[in-house]
Amino acid sequence: MMIQNMDFDVVIIGGSYAGLSAAMALGRSRRGTLIIDAGDPCNKQTPHSHNFLTQDGVQPEVIASIGREQVLQYPTVQFYTGIAEEIKLLENGWFEVSVPNRSVRSRKVIIATGLRDIMPSIPGFSECWGRTVIHCPYCHGYEVRDQKTGILAQGDMIMEMVRLIDHWTKDLTLFTNGPAEIADEDRQLILNKGVAIMEQPIREVIHKEGKLQHLVLEDGTKRSLLALYARVKTEQKSPFATMLGCNIGPMGLIETSMVGQTNVTGVYAAGDCTHPMRSVATAVASGNLAGAMLNKELIDEDFMK
Ligand SMILES: Cc1cc2nc3c(=O)[nH]c(=O)nc-3n(C[C@H](O)[C@H](O)[C@H](O)COP(=O)(O)OP(=O)(O)OC[C@H]3O[C@@H](n4cnc5c(N)ncnc54)[C@H](O)[C@@H]3O)c2cc1C
Repeated sequence: MMIQNMDFDVVIIGGSYAGLSAAMALGRSRRGTLIIDAGDPCNKQTPHSHNFLTQDGVQPEVIASIGREQVLQYPTVQFYTGIAEEIKLLENGWFEVSVPNRSVRSRKVIIATGLRDIMPSIPGFSECWGRTVIHCPYCHGYEVRDQKTGILAQGDMIMEMVRLIDHWTKDLTLFTNGPAEIADEDRQLILNKGVAIMEQPIREVIHKEGKLQHLVLEDGTKRSLLALYARVKTEQKSPFATMLGCNIGPMGLIETSMVGQTNVTGVYAAGDCTHPMRSVATAVASGNLAGAMLNKELIDEDFMK
């Protein structure tokens, strides 16, 4: 959709679950709102999204498209499909946000641009990501309960992941992709639980269209699996929090108050870019709070004029 105005109350950068949810609160508050979205959510490879009430097992894009349709029923909300390139704080306290070939101004900004998952350089891994290589048992664990399952973890994550996933299946193998960095007593605890530990580097993930078949280790050993849990490294998908001087915490997440306010006046953030418990429900909740609180901020400013 073309952008029809120059000035907005709020520009939301990132129009997936968090951004759309913020827009819902703002549209219902009659705020001039522009959503800018590049259409690249982190869960795009997942066939079915789980654990979000009323939409359990629904395709991720279906959830988002219902969200877009409902949000765009509010006449003050506009949606631009494309990338936001730059943001500047103007002297009057407004923001200028640029998309290719034009810019808009807004009184407030919400950053809802999510995280980028960084795939390890193991052939086949990224093709299975979100399908049979999974990041979270709450999202996909039920579907692979009691199945032959691997955990790819190292260091501090080993005990946390083994303890967690042992709840969903007892048929577990731990892969550390190199010598396990683990205390002797923890190693013994894991072995006592019947979890095999395989420390060789992983050469390849063998799959058929994202459906995991087995892992091949450096010496050619094969281990057949139906699912592999892996927590991969992440980074902020957009540079806007840094551009504006928002505080970023030790986990690489934008620091906010309970309602999404950052340390920079007029800038809120919501969704995965702020929260370690990545889920559609959390993104929707935080976006909705940020939208409502920004509307209140605008009301408070205008009422005093
Ligand atoms: C593989 C996988 C499977 C998952 N499965 C589930 C599940 O089953 N159930 C569940 O509850 N959760 C699941 N999650 C978690 C869930 O997908 C996320 O918590 C949720 O998508 C976060 O929403 P968000 O709006 O914060 O970010 P995202 O959904 O990642 O969206 C961010 C949006 O910002 C846009 N954007 C970024 N930079 C720019 C820019 N410069 N300009 C314009 N737009 C930009 C992106 O294109 C994208 O559309 C899964 C996550 C992954 C990685």
